[in-house]
Amino acid sequence: MQKGHPIAAPSSTQQRLSDMRRVLILGGTGEASQIAEHLAHRPDLTVISSLAGRLAQPKTPAGIVRVGGFGGVDGLSEYLKAHKINVVIDATHPFAARISHNAKLACRQTQVPLIVFERPAWTAQPQDHWIAVADFASAALRVDNRQNRVFLSIGRQELSGFANCGSAWFLIRTIEEPDVWLPQNSRLILSRGPFSLKEEKELFAKEAITHVVSKNSGGVGTYAKIQAARELGLVVVMIDRPPRDRTAVLPDPDEVYRELEELLKNVSFTLHPREMPLL
Ligand code: NAP
Repeated sequence: MQKGHPIAAPSSTQQRLSDMRRVLILGGTGEASQIAEHLAHRPDLTVISSLAGRLAQPKTPAGIVRVGGFGGVDGLSEYLKAHKINVVIDATHPFAARISHNAKLACRQTQVPLIVFERPAWTAQPQDHWIAVADFASAALRVDNRQNRVFLSIGRQELSGFANCGSAWFLIRTIEEPDVWLPQNSRLILSRGPFSLKEEKELFAKEAITHVVSKNSGGVGTYAKIQAARELGLVVVMIDRPPRDRTAVLPDPDEVYRELEELLKNVSFTLHPREMPLL
């Protein structure tokens, strides 16, 4: 797979490119794929999903897919103009703050309408034992104690924040091999979810886990580990989301579709020449 290149472009779609409006979905989440799936069958839209390229073997959303960074705000602005994107849907992960910030500025610069989806954060239930922390470094400080057996499933990129932990033991689960230093007392398992509540409880019990470190990602895809921690009475060190302006954020894909309908009604579109590049 090459960065900045398509990895899927259905030929039936290509035939009608000249009279379609172009929606760019900034993806990398289950909901972004859900939105792509919902929109890709529409005959009036060309749906392009953009993935950061963090995984060598990502799950591919429906429609056209491009992979890799745009090159900051200016690069994204150029992309929007060059590919005559009519609407951008930012459905990135709540912790992917930079691409969301870039999208906001690039859409403002190019006057391309932006719809922002963000799944709601998890909130602690009465039975939960959560310690809320602001960032990964604070989480590492909180758990690095000789009695602790810590489950870390926070994505490969953020593991480096735990590399200097020398006291606690860590069970680290990632989808693909991390390319950063891991804590000295640790074991790595490579596995791709979703995981059921039963699987998470069995794993935590078998490994005598005492603490779970988690990003407050929200959504259902990774919630089983939070439920499992609750049922087993484990401590969850919950990392808060990076700050963002959430005034215009939609929490539900159905609201995204409604907002898109409104925009498609009100924004005037130019038809694209058939030869115009798509990716
Ligand atoms: P980020 O800090 O927001 O983005 C860093 C750069 O990656 C962006 O400036 C952009 O590069 C590129 N990028 C990110 N998302 C992109 C997309 N959908 N399409 C094209 N380029 C994209 O995000 P991150 O570094 O990927 O991740 C930050 C946190 O979010 C981590 O905790 C990670 O685990 C979590 N997360 C991210 C994703 C994801 O798909 N990005 C998925 C799940 C979880 P340019 O400036 O060059 O355009």
